[in-house]
Amino acid sequence: MADTPAVFPAWPGGAEVAVALTFDVDGESAWLGEGQQNERRLTLLSQGRFGPARGLGRILDLLAEFGVPATFYVPGHTADQQPGAVTAILAAGHEVGHHGYLHRGTDALDPAGQRAELEAGLAALGRHGVRPAGYRSPGWELTPETLALLGELDFSYDSSLMADDRPYWEHSGGTPLLELPGHWSLCDWPYFGWTPYYGGLLADPAAVERIWLDEFMSARQDGRAITYTMHPEAVGRGYLALMLRRVMTGMLSGGNPWFATHAQIAALATR
Ligand SMILES: [Zn+2]
Repeated sequence: MADTPAVFPAWPGGAEVAVALTFDVDGESAWLGEGQQNERRLTLLSQGRFGPARGLGRILDLLAEFGVPATFYVPGHTADQQPGAVTAILAAGHEVGHHGYLHRGTDALDPAGQRAELEAGLAALGRHGVRPAGYRSPGWELTPETLALLGELDFSYDSSLMADDRPYWEHSGGTPLLELPGHWSLCDWPYFGWTPYYGGLLADPAAVERIWLDEFMSARQDGRAITYTMHPEAVGRGYLALMLRRVMTGMLSGGNPWFATHAQIAALATR
């Protein structure tokens, strides 16, 4: 089935490009969701906990400094374990989206397991008064059953698939679902997410800064929306928060961006 690009009116304020800064606040959930073997790995878990406990504050300060909104995809487990993180995100006026409960990859779950993960995540965010309209699958893995469940549970948009670099319409059990695509190259984790056993790059931030700004310039030329995906446990490290500051400054000097939440972008999309 062909993917249909979404149609947008002019961006607000005469902006040339819509920029969605998004943050997945995985905390310990990404490691716990991999299985019980990680429950006693205190260093690994603490590396995750750095995200909501420390990195998030840096991100919120940076967003406040620039006066721009962002979207935070929060696993239910993080919301339950670090409720103050969700409170701080909401108090600053940002959007909270669904990112599973224990960050279990959808491809490893049967439909009942996927439903349980989705409903537990909804319940956890609901305890903060949030009914998320957007979903991002843990680990960016999505199955046909997930799409059907997202339609059934009344989600309006998803940010997990990559068939276009423009927002497009996906079909979730017959219901149109707006896809706000990301990409691994526009995510901090492949560059900076080093862990023992998994490895990683610990890349040079200057190289990533160039890639992210080049993609911004391409999006500006196309007049499209662009999504950056980050994790407070990675980009919330001091040296990487400085990189993000340079990227945002570069966007403001190289064009006229509209920094928007996924909800704000989705609200403008038509077929
Ligand atoms: Zn995640």
